[in-house]
Amino acid sequence: MTSRPTVQGVIFDWGGTLSHYANIELLDMWRLAAGRIAEHSARDSDTVLERLVEVDLRLWERTAADARAYALPDILREATRELGIDLTEVIIEEAGTHYLDSWTPHIRHFDDARPTLAALKERGLRIGMLSNTHWPKAYHEHFLERDGLAPYIDTRCYTSEMTRMKPHPEAFRHALETLGVEAAAAVYVGDRLFDDVLGAQLVGMRAVHRPNPGVPSHEGVTPDATIETLADLLPIIDGWR
Ligand SMILES: [Mg+2]
Repeated sequence: MTSRPTVQGVIFDWGGTLSHYANIELLDMWRLAAGRIAEHSARDSDTVLERLVEVDLRLWERTAADARAYALPDILREATRELGIDLTEVIIEEAGTHYLDSWTPHIRHFDDARPTLAALKERGLRIGMLSNTHWPKAYHEHFLERDGLAPYIDTRCYTSEMTRMKPHPEAFRHALETLGVEAAAAVYVGDRLFDDVLGAQLVGMRAVHRPNPGVPSHEGVTPDATIETLADLLPIIDGWR
C-alpha cells in the first residue's frame, strides 16, 4: 500500500448524501411554473410543462458529456426560447420561484447529518460541500440554516455559481481550493459512482460512496469505502488519520 497523507478535510455531496433523495415527478415540480409562463404566452400550460421537463433533463444529462454548469434561469430561458415565448425577467423570476416552492416540502436532511458533521468538526477537520445543482445558493443555504447544518460546513460550493459540474475535475479542484485542503488529504462523500466517486478519485481524493438505489449505477468504479449511514463515516475517517 502506498502511504497517503492524513485526512484534513471532508467534502460532501448534498442530494442523496446529506439530504434524503426525493422521489419526485419532475412534472409536478414544474407545473406551477408552466402555468405562470403560459399566462404570458400563446402556448398552453401542458406544452410549456413538457418542454420545461425536457430541457431540465437535457441540461442535467450534460454532466456525462462536458459537465457545463447551469442555473435555474437557464432552463427557463432555453425552454421558452425553443417555444418562441419572450418573457420578461420578472416572469422568469416568478416562474423560478414557483418551481422552487414546489420542491420545498420535499427537502429533508438525514437525522445523522448534523451530529456527524459536528463530530468531524470536533476532530479539527475542514468540512466542505460541493453540489451539482441549478438551484440558487440562497435556496440551498436556507435549508442548511433551518436544519442547523450550516455552522459545521466551512465552505459550500454550488455549481449554479460555477462553470463546471461534477464529475469535471475543475468542479472538485474549485471545492478543494475553496476549502484550502490538498486533494490527497481530502475525502469526498457522495451517492453517485460516476459524478461523485470517480470524479473525486480522478483528482486524487479518496472517495466514500453512500449507495442510493434512485441513481444510476456505474461499472468499474471502486470507492475507497462504502457507508450505509453518515455516522458510519466516523470510524472510516478515523482510520485514515
Ligand atoms: Mg447526490
